[in-house]
Amino acid sequence: MELELTDLPQPEIGPRDVLIRVRACGICGSDVHGLDGSTGRRIPPVVMGHEAAGVISEVGRDVKAWKPGDRVTFDSTVSCGACHFCRQGDINLCDNRQVLGVSCGDYRRNGAFAEYVAVPENILYRLPDGLAFEHAAMIEAVSIAVHAVNLTPRSLGDTAVVVGSGMIGQLAVQAAKVAGFSRVFAVDIDDAKLEMARKLGADEVFNSKNTDAAKEIAERTGGRGADAALEAVGATDPIRTAISCVRKGGTVTLIGNITPKIELPLQPVVTREIRRQGSCASSGEYPACIELLSSGKIRVDSMISARSPLDDAASWFDRLYRHEPNLMKVIVQP
Ligand SMILES: [Zn+2]
Ligand SMILES: [Zn+2]
Repeated sequence: MELELTDLPQPEIGPRDVLIRVRACGICGSDVHGLDGSTGRRIPPVVMGHEAAGVISEVGRDVKAWKPGDRVTFDSTVSCGACHFCRQGDINLCDNRQVLGVSCGDYRRNGAFAEYVAVPENILYRLPDGLAFEHAAMIEAVSIAVHAVNLTPRSLGDTAVVVGSGMIGQLAVQAAKVAGFSRVFAVDIDDAKLEMARKLGADEVFNSKNTDAAKEIAERTGGRGADAALEAVGATDPIRTAISCVRKGGTVTLIGNITPKIELPLQPVVTREIRRQGSCASSGEYPACIELLSSGKIRVDSMISARSPLDDAASWFDRLYRHEPNLMKVIVQP
């Protein structure tokens, strides 16, 4: 697929939509992978981009709670508000879920790598004045980590291990600390990322290339293993590591999903009664994330590798696609 910068008519808004002047939009891994057509979720033509923040410029006829000039961010997922799951608050599991900036055959919804994006009012969140747009554009990523930690059973004083120190892993380390895990270990195969995890609050870090992380963590947890693991890669090796690092009866929360299939070590999972919990997007965690970012309890500054105007975004997609080292989040500023 080719990335193209083009003039489009200003998006139309329905009676319950608002039009947003986009001020920052993060490039997500799913956008970068979507480019080569392998995921089938970015069928052209589509405006990508779902991690955004900006200012309302126009509101639909029936919109009462919002006005032009309001600083906002919005959920990456458009939920219907009416299905069984939405009515229980599980908006990430909505039967009619659409993701902004995705075009997959079932639907096409233009996203926020653009000057303007139209979104329904039910997915908007107000931003405090002090929260920068580029930080607000990271809320979607923060919410993924916070949701995963919320789904993970825990008691005060428990220990956790976060496997994978990419951006979501870095956020999961911070969310786990905020959530009351007394010690949080980080495991990765990249020393630079582990150093970043340490700076962001990981108590100890282990490079699984040259250390037996399960053994090290068992030694530090009375021989038992961590109470919970958060897996933020989504491939056989890191999932095996996560399973081997938790105690009997522990939980492995699966966030990453870069590979469609994995090989599961069934014996330890069954005989040690390991729980596995999938975690997808977020459901209602945005206000908490705004608070955690505003108060500095979760920090995202060190994860922003670059900022780019819209007309230079294609070159950043290219650098991300080629896995240029030390690139984490690139923020496009239309
Ligand atoms: Zn994303
Ligand atoms: Zn729904």
